[in-house]
Amino acid sequence: MAYPKAQILKSKPSLFVKKGSKAARPGGVAALYEKLGLLTPTDFLLHFPLRYEDETCLQAIGSARPYASLNVEGEVTQADVTYRPRKYLTAKLRDDSGEIALRWINFYPNQLQQMQVGKRWRVRGEVRPGFNGLEMVHPRVSRPGAPLPNTLTPVYPSTEGLTQKAIRARIEAALQAADIDDTLPDSIRERLGLLPFGQAIKSLHRPAPDACVADLEQRTHPAWIRVKFDELLAQQISLADAREARRQKKAQPLPKIKKSESLVEQMLKSLPFELTAAQKRVVDEIHADMALDFPMHRLLQGDVGSGKTVVAALAAMRAVEHGKQAVVMAPTEILAEQHFLKFSAWAQALGLQCVWLSSGLSAPIKRKNLAAIASGQAQLIVGTQALIQQGVNFFDLGLVIVDEQHRFGVSQRLALSHKAEQANATALSPGLYPHQLTMSATPIPRTLAMTFFADLDVSVIDERPPGRTPIKTKLVSANRREEVIEGVRQAVTEGGQVYWVCPLVEESEALELQTAKDTHALLTQALAGLTVGLIHGRLSSQDKAAVMHAFSAGELAVLVATTVIEVGVDVPNASLMVIEHAERFGLAQLHQLRGRVGRGSRESICLLLFEKPLSQEAQTRLKAMYETDDGFEIARRDLQLRGPGEFLGARQSGLALLRFADFEADAQWLAQAQDLATELRQHQPEVAQKHKDRWMQGREAFLNG
Ligand code: ADP
Ligand code: MG
Repeated sequence: MAYPKAQILKSKPSLFVKKGSKAARPGGVAALYEKLGLLTPTDFLLHFPLRYEDETCLQAIGSARPYASLNVEGEVTQADVTYRPRKYLTAKLRDDSGEIALRWINFYPNQLQQMQVGKRWRVRGEVRPGFNGLEMVHPRVSRPGAPLPNTLTPVYPSTEGLTQKAIRARIEAALQAADIDDTLPDSIRERLGLLPFGQAIKSLHRPAPDACVADLEQRTHPAWIRVKFDELLAQQISLADAREARRQKKAQPLPKIKKSESLVEQMLKSLPFELTAAQKRVVDEIHADMALDFPMHRLLQGDVGSGKTVVAALAAMRAVEHGKQAVVMAPTEILAEQHFLKFSAWAQALGLQCVWLSSGLSAPIKRKNLAAIASGQAQLIVGTQALIQQGVNFFDLGLVIVDEQHRFGVSQRLALSHKAEQANATALSPGLYPHQLTMSATPIPRTLAMTFFADLDVSVIDERPPGRTPIKTKLVSANRREEVIEGVRQAVTEGGQVYWVCPLVEESEALELQTAKDTHALLTQALAGLTVGLIHGRLSSQDKAAVMHAFSAGELAVLVATTVIEVGVDVPNASLMVIEHAERFGLAQLHQLRGRVGRGSRESICLLLFEKPLSQEAQTRLKAMYETDDGFEIARRDLQLRGPGEFLGARQSGLALLRFADFEADAQWLAQAQDLATELRQHQPEVAQKHKDRWMQGREAFLNG
């Protein structure tokens, strides 16, 4: 799961670079190295081999075995250029033990000269079965009798136009020139049982012939442990620095106020339910952060339906009772609208003004709302992320709430958090940063949170509101659709409501829309007498809101939907969820969808309709859905299936999170790295700095957000 594997470039390095070709020009070569991410000497030091070849001894030609590598010396006994089926250079090489065929598909004139009958060469490469016995295709050729290397030969990740020889030379130069001193004092290094840095680096680039190649290639060799530990340590130092930098920033402390004047207290009293113990705990954690004089960065995690919204609202009330504004942002209009409905109801009960902001608003209304935000008339502001991206002027922003933040992806999350900080620049409290609360329904496993979100404090709602009956999940073959439709009728007869989710059509949005329309028509017909609504991404935000409103008001019995309902929608009376082509959805997505039911006291069912044949991975996903409805367990399995980059939405950002360490496999080192980071920053800050400098060039900005 470590990253470099993704960087292995498909094209094989070509062996011969023609003079005057692009790669031979100096600028060209630099660009090629840059493509591999190799700019500084340290980059070269840390460009580790993918595998190794043993050229430390010569073999007998007669010992050649298919698919093994071979390093031999012999005499050319035959050389031909053939033109059928393509232009080939073929040759035969012989020693006392036997003969092997050599073949080149593209070749240069000098190679033809090399292969003159009677000449002796050292030849190495991989052996393959060919038409006429064993052969080597595009073997490497060098002078015979040259001294053999006394270390294993590294094979580096490369790119078209860069030879292994060239890369090796650059790395060799880096090993001479770059600083490979240990950043860690010997006492610490020995305590942790780590190899010296220089020794580790050298033994990865030029391992001794007796080194265990499997350990090297599987990255379990002590040299690898040192590299991975160093990387984790640098990351932990960097995150701790970021946390400290945040603590240096100022925010207005928003402590508890007198009970009789507190909006928080009033809101609590007006709620139709009692908070769960978990909700109470996280509200306290959030309020405690907000009472401090530096900005809160808290991540609120809770499974779908765990009741995050009311917690967020109680955080908002704390800001508002201090005369500050609070803004709530969501990734989609539909989710933002849901929040708006809830927040404005709460606002109204407390005599506050809550305004709605989205890109879909008409110009006059938007102007009016923006004015209310700028004057401070509006205490609560809800909208999509377009909200702050368009440069809203707040009167005095005290709290930024971002819902379902994982949907934004890592890079967007960072952009948002910068924007939020800038948002206050022109506000009433210059130099003060707003507090930030982000909410996520996808629980981030602990190790991952430690690795990538260590600058966030995390609150977890690990309890569901009472009175929920667990959702029954059933896997149903698509050819039982008739029965499923009967089930829909049954659920409605019993007073429930139904979501029918249409298949995801990744390759075509138009087709997806058409499918939704067709399904709507079909269900309207099949369920004569019931009201069937349709919602999809192409509707205007007003229309979407109208449909959602009709569904929550119970005017629609069945709602046919595309995945626009995936996040956050809350209609407690909905008790049946049908998902067509469930095999096409990702695990997190399925879990989110399923979370739309089971929100009230009604017994809820989720039917996952699938179409055969199922891929192995789809089977694993559906099985997970069937086996558990615990969001943490789902997240764990999802992470296993997809890997952290994709899980965090970081893949598109093109930035590797960790190049060498695997946050899960190396979890034991992660904890040690974290401890050492704390220790070094406290007692030997110059060591911490030096270590970070070696590893973190160019990566800091990304991690710190
Ligand atoms: P999510 O965490 O998925 O955002 P919501 O905040 O939408 O969940 O809450 C889901 C539902 O549970 C809502 O209808 C909400 O009113 C209700 N709810 C929240 N907290 C409680 C509670 N303590 N007791 C009963 N119902 C609650
Ligand atoms: Mg929610």
